[in-house]
Amino acid sequence: MAMKIIQAECTSCGDCKPVCPTNSITSKGGMYRINADTCTECDDQFDSPRCLDACPAGESCIVFA
Ligand code: SF4
Ligand code: SF4
Repeated sequence: MAMKIIQAECTSCGDCKPVCPTNSITSKGGMYRINADTCTECDDQFDSPRCLDACPAGESCIVFA
């Protein structure tokens, strides 16, 4: 269970990274990615994925993988 960033929709704004409770979002060369091994979909801690809530592009950019 993990979220995934659609690269074509991501503007590299960085808003998602600091809100992730499991530090699963990394950026390299302006590309933001979610580590599927550590992403919990925020299941235990929040009502909805925090990265998705923070992303200006919303559901077109961060999806359930
Ligand atoms: S769903 Fe939650 S745990 Fe997964 S990347 Fe987004 S903020 Fe982090
Ligand atoms: S918040 Fe959305 S647009 Fe901004 S870096 Fe994260 S995935 Fe990309």
